[in-house]
Amino acid sequence: MVTERDYYEVLGVARGASDAEIKRAFRKLAQQWHPDVSKDPASDVRFKEINEAYQVLSDPQRRQAYDMFGRAGVSGGADAGFGAGFSGFSDIFDAFFGGASTGAARHGRPAVGSDLRYDLRISFEEAVAGTEKEIEFPVLDRCLTCGGSGAKPGTSTSTCPQCQGRGEIRTVRQTMLGQMVNVSACPRCRGEGRIIESACETCHGEGRTEQTRKLRVTIPAGIDEGHQVRLSGEGEAGPRSGPLGSLNVAVHVTPHPRLRREGTELYYELDISIAQAALGTRVQVPTVEGSEEIEVRPGTQPGTELRLRGKGVPHLRRTGSRGDLHVFVRVVVPGRLSKEQRKALEAYADASGEAVWDHSGGLMDRVRDALG
Ligand code: ZN
Repeated sequence: MVTERDYYEVLGVARGASDAEIKRAFRKLAQQWHPDVSKDPASDVRFKEINEAYQVLSDPQRRQAYDMFGRAGVSGGADAGFGAGFSGFSDIFDAFFGGASTGAARHGRPAVGSDLRYDLRISFEEAVAGTEKEIEFPVLDRCLTCGGSGAKPGTSTSTCPQCQGRGEIRTVRQTMLGQMVNVSACPRCRGEGRIIESACETCHGEGRTEQTRKLRVTIPAGIDEGHQVRLSGEGEAGPRSGPLGSLNVAVHVTPHPRLRREGTELYYELDISIAQAALGTRVQVPTVEGSEEIEVRPGTQPGTELRLRGKGVPHLRRTGSRGDLHVFVRVVVPGRLSKEQRKALEAYADASGEAVWDHSGGLMDRVRDALG
């Protein structure tokens, strides 16, 4: 872990907080920072930190050790960093509503590998049409020498003699308030219930090594910036044959230079001249599939919406259904006029009986006469 924040600070509780307060604080933060829910790129790290703090503070013995010695007092116990925590949303609720103690994550079975996040950038057109991408990333994967068991090939694993394979140690204490039962992960087998007789020399008994994985990822049509494609079983391998976590592919979409997207709808602002608006015209507008000619009717007002149905973005979940391309008309008034244009516009004003400035800065004679 890179971060070394105080566990109480991580959960935002006082040092004297009750178990219920700690549980409440953790639950709130876990829901907020779970990588499946949070769009924050730091959520993975933050979630792990929250999880780690909770693992320690929710266990009376480990909490006491932490209060006395800080992280040094608790780091040796359960595998607090990678993999030992919760990996799925359901696991969080198992911890609250299930019977298992919350001291260490799981007892009598290996921990699930961590979830990974991969940031993938695609073009605007790829997001609309869908695409397939080959990705490559470093990952802690099952050791190729031992197949992930962590045992030296030819040797086997055996039931942990300290916990008899249960993965947890129960200590019963008599106190003034009655009998107190404390359940914690077995330190000998790290809560896994089995121990290795002779460790694999490649992975030193960990069952996983740093490798590179190549994958083809299917990006569905209609995906948008910030969406995640979750590939379960493509994350980090758990230690000693622990199940693999998930790979979350966070999709980033490069914006279109001219079209603006909101969900399934596309927007384009079309600039036309006063003459085009008044007399009507045909113009090219950009679409995802290339440009398309549309008709601007004579007498079109600024702000008019011309809709190209079905030229938007496909619905992610409703196949065959697509949004629209909304073209908004803007009438651009020329800032500079050529001599010819000025004459033509003056003639137009004249024909309309409108008072306008002439080129020398005064009102046109005819109009001034009419007003006087
Ligand atoms: Zn190995």
